[in-house]
Amino acid sequence: ADLSDLIKAGLRDVPDFPRPGVVFKDITGLLADAASLRAVVEGIARRYAPGTVDTVLGLEARGFILGAPVALELGAGFVPVRKAGKLPRETYQATYDLEYGSATVEIHTDAVQPGSRVLIVDDVLATGGTGEAAVRLVRQAGGTVVGFSVLIELGFLEGRRRLTDVEPHALAVL
Ligand code: IMP
Repeated sequence: ADLSDLIKAGLRDVPDFPRPGVVFKDITGLLADAASLRAVVEGIARRYAPGTVDTVLGLEARGFILGAPVALELGAGFVPVRKAGKLPRETYQATYDLEYGSATVEIHTDAVQPGSRVLIVDDVLATGGTGEAAVRLVRQAGGTVVGFSVLIELGFLEGRRRLTDVEPHALAVL
């Protein structure tokens, strides 16, 4: 079976989490399986030629789990994008709309060097709000987004529409 089938088979659907009406895609079983963990990390990393990524930006929290081993594989550094209030030093912030209200994410102002080539990594692309905010953070810091990779894209939410200029790649599309 290919990687997309492996991911689809390893996912678990959790109805009504975190709210009624939402079907949450739980990837913890994939992460717990040694062969699957290796396959998904390598599946993301192999899309980028060695020497073409300076920094992997992981989105809190599951983007940290995937982003750090991808960074090692590519010989890149790792930078966390965190929810507001978690980073201790000066930050750039990006705010995006949620169904109810808004959310803010941050990076340290010195985390991405001007001119850095940045790969953004997360587990799930849903509405694209988080990803689009991460793209804005990279650009505020003077970096260039050279890739955007997720394990799973929820195609019916059309998050890709908010990320037209970075062409996100998903290992599996649902
Ligand atoms: P978006 O901003 O709507 O694209 O949502 C993406 C963010 O929410 C990512 O950081 C995901 O980790 C998280 N997310 C949204 N839906 C799911 C899901 O079904 N499973 C796991 N994470 C999800």
